[in-house]
Amino acid sequence: MEIVTRAPRMTLLSREARARGERIGFVPTMGALHEGHLSLLRRARQASTLVVMSLFVNPAQFGPGEDFQRYPRDLARDADLAREAGTQILYAPEEREVYPPGFGTAVTVETLDSVLEGAGRPGHFRGVATVVTKLLNRVSPHVAFFGQKDAQQAVLVRRMVRDLEMDVEIEIGPTVREADGLALSSRNVYLNPEERRAAPVLCRALRRAESAIVSEEERDPERVLSLIRETVATEPLVSLEYAAVVDGDTLRPLEKIRGSVLVPLAARLGATRLIDNILLKVEE
Ligand code: AMP
Repeated sequence: MEIVTRAPRMTLLSREARARGERIGFVPTMGALHEGHLSLLRRARQASTLVVMSLFVNPAQFGPGEDFQRYPRDLARDADLAREAGTQILYAPEEREVYPPGFGTAVTVETLDSVLEGAGRPGHFRGVATVVTKLLNRVSPHVAFFGQKDAQQAVLVRRMVRDLEMDVEIEIGPTVREADGLALSSRNVYLNPEERRAAPVLCRALRRAESAIVSEEERDPERVLSLIRETVATEPLVSLEYAAVVDGDTLRPLEKIRGSVLVPLAARLGATRLIDNILLKVEE
């Protein structure tokens, strides 16, 4: 595995790989790798002949007061895990090269970036869309892999790639969870033992919603949301920021549960903010 920190070197390697006829699979990350990231790298290995992972803690997607400074960073550990999972190029650009003096362009997906996560984190998705565009330009992959864990990011990246006619396939890998249901996240390390014990209530709430929709044929979004709120309320350490029942492509609230149904939520446990979601296909 080669660790690349300079952008022109990344472009050169990518051009050479394309000229050799390689299929480039790309997994963008902010590091602090866990099994969720590794599952995407394994998918990339299966679907491509050259696996590139980027590691960049993108300041543009953190708001003021968010955890940019204390976000966990350990390049040596991440490099070992990435290598073991089959990464051939680890692209870890430097901030001053990604955002040089005078940098002034942003990508915004206006229909999707101000709702749900975007409502509470203004500018977050503009930061995501901009850096993903830059990374896709640099790495020039045939296929890029994102996790369902960040459902809105997945929807937004797909939309952006379609809207801007970017020549890349987008694949979404399923959410990887701990045995007790907690979705893996680099931020889980912030949880103290009591918060860690309480956190799986988010997954339990989503499973309760799923079973109401699938087994009990509940079609009223408000009743599904009530079930989620009731379940989360059983854990006093967890405060629900939002839960919603939305269309899985447009992120618009559903009046009736049918089609592609996304149920995303965000919650706070002390100083830590966690998100999770389920995506269902519901017969008309
Ligand atoms: P991050 O390093 O948090 O930016 O995440 C990098 C990629 O890994 C994103 O596409 C995430 O959606 C994905 N990811 C993060 N956590 C998980 C998880 N638990 N399961 C699957 N994918 C994940």
